Amino acid sequence: EASKEIVLDISGLAKHFGGLKALDGVDMAVRKGSVHALIGPNGSGKTTMVNVITGLYVATAGRVKLLGRDVTALAPHERAKLGMCRTYQNIRVFRGLTVLENVTIGAERDGNDVAGAQATRERALAALDFVGLRDVAGLPVGDLPYGHQRYVEIARALAGSPEILLLDEPAAGLNLTEKGEMAALLKRLKGHGLTIVIIDHDMKLIEQVADHITVLNFGKRIADGEPRAVLAHPEVIAAYLGE
Ligand code: ADP
Repeated sequence: EASKEIVLDISGLAKHFGGLKALDGVDMAVRKGSVHALIGPNGSGKTTMVNVITGLYVATAGRVKLLGRDVTALAPHERAKLGMCRTYQNIRVFRGLTVLENVTIGAERDGNDVAGAQATRERALAALDFVGLRDVAGLPVGDLPYGHQRYVEIARALAGSPEILLLDEPAAGLNLTEKGEMAALLKRLKGHGLTIVIIDHDMKLIEQVADHITVLNFGKRIADGEPRAVLAHPEVIAAYLGE
């Protein structure tokens, strides 16, 4: 497995907010086609990590490489163009725009000529097909149940043809049935060979989908490896008990 391509290579990543070290020198390598979970107690630095990886926050130290290219100095939209696509913990959709319009925003990568617009529309429709929302493409997003609004966000990220997809708590706020549906969707994404970084609090969900787990506590990496070993790690158990 050592030969498998690393899509995202993170080393020594740090983010300080004044005196607070939200991230304190974290290393992480995400292999192509894997579902890589980033877990840890509340406030351990998970969302900060995704925000620094995607460029929303400027790193205090360390570096982020996407497919071998150093992207640490690039703006979020430049990283997105290179195939780094994400969703947010608090969903960001335009409730008054239609489902298709929302997803098209994610699919716009190749300028605004007619051929580009057609390709964009097709990518958006394919992404809606994938998440099962093509039938409601013409409805305002605000008319959909909350769980389906989360799928709109995922479809938008998918429409960008991601090299890597970062999902910040995709199951947050979902009920039990919706969580099951989300797990099924994540498995289908994984089945298509997508490379995924996922943050979630729901250990049942993580255990179902993750190939690899990195655990943060107080901004530091305390465990990293295959799920069974990581979840049995005494320091990981202690960190969760202390929550
Ligand atoms: P998690 O996602 O694991 O719950 P966060 O990354 O949200 O953790 O937060 C890690 C730490 O950084 C927390 O102590 C949080 O209060 C702090 N933090 C996060 N974002 C900011 C910010 N924009 N300004 C100041 N402190 C922040």
